[in-house]
Amino acid sequence: MNNDNFLTCPVYSNRFKEQEAECIKYPYDKKDKNVPNDIYFCGNCGVGIAYPPLSKKQLEELYFNGEYWDDSKIQLITPNSFPGQYVLSKSRWDFFKNGIKNNIKKSWSILDVGAGHGFYGMIAADDKDIDVVEYCAIEADKALKESLAKTWNKNNFKTKLEIYDSTEKIDKKYDLIVLSHILEHVLDPKSFLENVSTYLNDGGTLLLGVPNKDYLFKADVFPHLFFFSKKSIEILMESIELNVKSICFYGKDAQKAKKDNIFAYCVEVFFYKARRIIPKAFLIKFYAWRLKAFYENNNGTWMRALAEKR
Ligand SMILES: [Zn+2]
Repeated sequence: MNNDNFLTCPVYSNRFKEQEAECIKYPYDKKDKNVPNDIYFCGNCGVGIAYPPLSKKQLEELYFNGEYWDDSKIQLITPNSFPGQYVLSKSRWDFFKNGIKNNIKKSWSILDVGAGHGFYGMIAADDKDIDVVEYCAIEADKALKESLAKTWNKNNFKTKLEIYDSTEKIDKKYDLIVLSHILEHVLDPKSFLENVSTYLNDGGTLLLGVPNKDYLFKADVFPHLFFFSKKSIEILMESIELNVKSICFYGKDAQKAKKDNIFAYCVEVFFYKARRIIPKAFLIKFYAWRLKAFYENNNGTWMRALAEKR
């Protein structure tokens, strides 16, 4: 009798034996859900695979029934209301700008897949160095969509805003596609990336963000399905006609991030509670320091990649 179980790498599609792969427990700190038990690492490209995988139905319930954001309030989206997310978006935007320094086009159109609060669009629309003609947000969450539209009107941005539930409704191509903390959530990252890159102009740029080794420091990584290494991202991108321009890591050391400084944590709790009345510039400085969002560090908690379509 053969008891071998095989796993398929989502990057290379090579199959490997479960028993021979490096494996750790899937960090999860609640009890009420059907979640993966383990993470298996592909010996070839280093990607971690959550196992057993979530079903399509589970994912749909999570992302399309508003379970993920868990906030049905229509509200103005400001740096003060979501300081952490604003600072992270800003640091990734700066990473993108640095990477295209010698190639600033006259005008940009942006497609943000899984846009969330839409901070990339707002930061881009506000950026004096780059002319952004259009920002298209792909977001399924109803409250987020309405909040973004409301915020856009309030700010009077010149950049045109489009919002869709999914990429299926798009009938054109963009100069920049933002894929920020999405790839680790999808069932088939390769075909997902392949599909997304069809909306990219030739020579267009892809800005990708994924967590780096979050299984080392998070008590709960649900609902992440994949844990990408630098090598796996390189292979994945190159396999679908994207030229990797740069891959960098940012943030605190992933190895040490588990041990938080209690004092800094308490200050953060205070800042978060008082965030709406703290001056924006000060609040942002604090969060940038706290998250180390702009701090390049080879062992950092975030991986950021820029690629160009061939
Ligand atoms: Zn692999």
